[in-house]
Amino acid sequence: MHDEKEQTARARTGVSVAEATEAILASFSPLSAVAVPLAECLGLVLAEDVYSDIDLPPFDNSAMDGYAVRAEDTRGASPEHPAGLRVIGYIPAGSAPGPGDFVAPGTAFRVMTGAPVPPGADAVVRFEDTNEGRALAKPGLQPGSARAEPVSIGSDVLIYTVMQKGDSLRPRGEDVQAGTLVLGKGTLIRAYEIGVLAAVGKGQVTVHRRPRVAILATGDELVDVDQTPGPGQIRNSNNYAVAAQVSTWGGIALNLGVARDTLEDTTARIKQALDLKPDLLITSAGVSVGDYDVVKEVLMSLGSISMWQVRMRPGKPLAFGHLGPERVPFMGLPGNPVSSMVNMELFGRAAILKMLGRDQIQRTPVIAKALEPLENSSGRQHYIRGIVIREGNEYTARSTGGQGSNLLTSMSRANALLVIDEDTQLIEAGQTVKALLLD
Ligand code: AMP
Ligand code: MG
Repeated sequence: MHDEKEQTARARTGVSVAEATEAILASFSPLSAVAVPLAECLGLVLAEDVYSDIDLPPFDNSAMDGYAVRAEDTRGASPEHPAGLRVIGYIPAGSAPGPGDFVAPGTAFRVMTGAPVPPGADAVVRFEDTNEGRALAKPGLQPGSARAEPVSIGSDVLIYTVMQKGDSLRPRGEDVQAGTLVLGKGTLIRAYEIGVLAAVGKGQVTVHRRPRVAILATGDELVDVDQTPGPGQIRNSNNYAVAAQVSTWGGIALNLGVARDTLEDTTARIKQALDLKPDLLITSAGVSVGDYDVVKEVLMSLGSISMWQVRMRPGKPLAFGHLGPERVPFMGLPGNPVSSMVNMELFGRAAILKMLGRDQIQRTPVIAKALEPLENSSGRQHYIRGIVIREGNEYTARSTGGQGSNLLTSMSRANALLVIDEDTQLIEAGQTVKALLLD
């Protein structure tokens, strides 16, 4: 792709989305490993193997509020012939059995859920199967109108059910044993992994750091969001949308404002951006064939850049390469807001996920039934802004309506991109279409 002859050939025929994706991904690797506080790790990827420092659970404990007993002491027990066991102590959650605490034959300890079960016991009888719980179930007694009084220490609790060894007892190390691997390098940290990491004592976690992505708009027509556009002007929506996409996927967005369409300003702004040593620099606009050549000229002078015509709609022009002595990866998005967002969905997202160390980089398409004809007259791969709904066992898809690449709200009404391949002109109503669900 860097070969000049090859580049010209591609410029004529264009590159496919798959080819562009492959070329872009080849420029990125997972970023360096850093220690990050656990609460900030959501969505990041482990760069270390994590072992547990303790057994989980750390001690044999009760799965129920009830009485810790020896199962053999409940042999033959029933409501008519309860087994009476002498209560010799209470253990609430957060307490531990004392040194002499032991469930000897014929005795029981009152224990609460999560409390350690004293040695000697091999089962827990829940309150509901004792006279303590059954007191509440007496006819005429409204639920909640009375609390069962604990059987006092020194009295007998009546057990109404036969217990098996291990009933309602959660053995030490059942989930995780001390010293074993709980989460391997490369694991994506979701809420569930946050829970595991907390339980094994990882207050700091070694993860791939978040990419810093510098974002620069180009164009003389652009004003900022708090301005009222004058004649011929529009608000710079791209920077905000692209920054939000970067944050959605776990990157750190640096919004660098607008470069004006002069060689001096564009050069200065891009150099300032490179001084920040971002992991990726993204510009929008100024890369179409008909564009006044300022952006292209600056890019060419600052690094090695390919100008692609990607066979996709919306958003055909795409610049990609490396800029400056540090060879900062660079992506030049088309200016039209929808084109810029769709390019980000396909290429920006892939680059960010790869830098984060994610292994699942491409979205898995869902197959949906088209509720209306979906046309593709472009001869390119068409990404139709669509609405995909799950109805019973299947997904259905329809377009959001007008598909002009300047129609920002077509994107905001969409929850999916419906992908029609370049050699397909029409998907009839009732046929299936591939849909990429948006985040
Ligand atoms: P260009 O690539 O410069 O020809 O721009 C293509 C279209 O995108 C034009 O209609 C521009 O006004 C529009 N555009 C360019 N940059 C932005 C931006 N940052 N926000 C919104 N629209 C833009
Ligand atoms: Mg322009």
